[in-house]
Amino acid sequence: MKYIGAHVSAAGGVDQAVERAVAIGANAFALFTKSQRQWKAKPLDEKVIKAFRDACRRHGFGPGQILPHDSYLINLGHPEAEGLAKSRAAFLDEMRRCEQLGIDRLNFHPGSHLRKSSESDCLARIAESINQVLAETRGVTAVLENTAGQGSNLGWRFEQLAEIIAQVEDRTRVGVCLDTCHAFAAGYDLRSGDATRAMLDEFDAVVGIDYLKGMHLNDAKSELGSRVDRHHSLGRGNIGTACFTALMQDPRTDDMPLVLETIEPDIWAEEIAWLREQAGAQA
Ligand SMILES: [Zn+2]
Ligand SMILES: [Zn+2]
Repeated sequence: MKYIGAHVSAAGGVDQAVERAVAIGANAFALFTKSQRQWKAKPLDEKVIKAFRDACRRHGFGPGQILPHDSYLINLGHPEAEGLAKSRAAFLDEMRRCEQLGIDRLNFHPGSHLRKSSESDCLARIAESINQVLAETRGVTAVLENTAGQGSNLGWRFEQLAEIIAQVEDRTRVGVCLDTCHAFAAGYDLRSGDATRAMLDEFDAVVGIDYLKGMHLNDAKSELGSRVDRHHSLGRGNIGTACFTALMQDPRTDDMPLVLETIEPDIWAEEIAWLREQAGAQA
């Protein structure tokens, strides 16, 4: 089954995100469970938790169809003790919110060394952050997102994701979300169906396809290998449509949230309908 949706707003309460997903014809969605630009958030209200769970049940969203994204402030590879501790505490809070909402995975950007530590030290720190948070939570998988490699952000090469995962103790609760715009900006060509399948083959060889727990479907305003993160609507950027057709027809993307973070929410419903058509079309 293909679960296709978008990163919808949770304004007015996380339960509202479910309704917004339904309104655009999605059977998957992403959301922030708290404001993405703030460190602290008040705990989720019991009423809101119940409303979210009820809405998911009513509209048939299982845990594997929802991929929340953590706050952009969190850096689990922070080179300094204070920033690292703050990030770990905030990430633990986000994992607990997922537990409360009955969501089984949380998507995050691995981390940045801020040019103050080596790459391997940063990757080890990220893995240790994951180990600490997994030890204090249950049932939620920590899902690393590949990055565009902008600035000192790590996780843009599949080898870096593999190096983190290799140092995670409970590998049943770590996974990867592949963002097509980020992969393209990081240097993975996606401009044809063959190139897209080759990217997944490489991911399988370096990381392991079983770790794939979701995807972000974005075209790119940025160039191949530019290390610049600029999303675009499907078919309007430098990736083009063939990549998304190939992904919709590839069984390796079955049964996981496939989430648009494209730049025009007004056409998400159209983009979702188009992706579904591709899934049904002949290869
Ligand atoms: Zn993304
Ligand atoms: Zn991005």
